[in-house]
Amino acid sequence: MNLRIPGPTPCPPEVLQAVGRQMVNHRGPAFRELIQRVTAGLKEVFRTENDVLTLTTSGTGGLEAAVANFFSPGDAVLVVVTGVFGRRWADVAAAYGLKVARLDLPVGDVPTPAQLGAALDANPDVRAVFITHNETSTGVMVDLPALAKVVKGAGKLLFVDAVSSLGCIPLETDAWGCDVVVTASQKGLMSPPGLAHVAVSPAAWEFYRQASLPRFYFDLGRHRDLLAKGETPWTPAVSALFGLDVALRQILGEGLDRVFERHRQLAELTRRELKALGFRLVARDESWASNSVTAAYVPEGVDAGALIRTVRSEFNVEIQGGQAELAGKIIRVAHMGYVSEPDMVEALGAIRAALSRVGTRT
Ligand SMILES: *Cc1c(COP(=O)(O)O)cnc(C)c1O
Repeated sequence: MNLRIPGPTPCPPEVLQAVGRQMVNHRGPAFRELIQRVTAGLKEVFRTENDVLTLTTSGTGGLEAAVANFFSPGDAVLVVVTGVFGRRWADVAAAYGLKVARLDLPVGDVPTPAQLGAALDANPDVRAVFITHNETSTGVMVDLPALAKVVKGAGKLLFVDAVSSLGCIPLETDAWGCDVVVTASQKGLMSPPGLAHVAVSPAAWEFYRQASLPRFYFDLGRHRDLLAKGETPWTPAVSALFGLDVALRQILGEGLDRVFERHRQLAELTRRELKALGFRLVARDESWASNSVTAAYVPEGVDAGALIRTVRSEFNVEIQGGQAELAGKIIRVAHMGYVSEPDMVEALGAIRAALSRVGTRT
């Protein structure tokens, strides 16, 4: 199966082999070496000297940890909402009793620095700004360095959902001043699901010390203290870590710049071919179309569900449909993580062939 959904993404064979290894004592020397090597590799991919903590949970657990650790009830935050994942982070913050201001963008749009500045002016009490770097539901990536300047200029903490961007498109945690950055194992990091990774700046730790929201399983201070001894507070997903260890070596072996360039080229190829087939990008301007997942409206009269089913059953290619208001209107094709040109050529050929077979909507 050519798995072209935006997570979980395919794992390289060497990663799959590592995942099948026998367990180790998670309070022993073998695990200590493993978690220390993985953490060092993650820091290189995050481009940070900050703490990077590994939690056994999915990406949403990482987003929840980012909310639970740094605030007190009633604290105000500003969430930039470009789609499903921005909305999810806002929902998590609201569930924890934060006062949530939202900057809502129309589908396919990204915020300009001026829009973000105006939202901050209108909400001077917010303590932090939450931004989805790459909105997986609409296939758009924000200009994070430009937005980060606005956030830092206003003296707020910057929280970034990098779940579908880290390891796919450039992200400079330290150089751009990102305080809390969240990702997960099953997307750009081409590993099995089960791990979330959270980078925490010294300024964010300052917030942590003053925060009074309840925290336990996701208490990042506990994770930091135990990581110093090469352990995690609770039993970690050891197999996923075996896989991630190998995946990180492959990513860093290829070189981050080459990894980003490969994603850029495959995204370009995907957009070009889908447009030629009559699809229209959800991204309102191609300059901010995502390099890790392409979202596109199906051509007039084409049943998106039938297209996805035909691509799967006739061609063994798995693509994804739309979420929420985009359900039934779009397809999403991922070029994220372990992916090469032949994978995309095959997937796009399948979409082309299936398009001529599916009946039009009546
Ligand atoms: C996949 C994803 C998540 C996390 O999803 P989980 O299913 O909880 O791992 C969060 N944000 C973005 C942008 C994503 O693409």
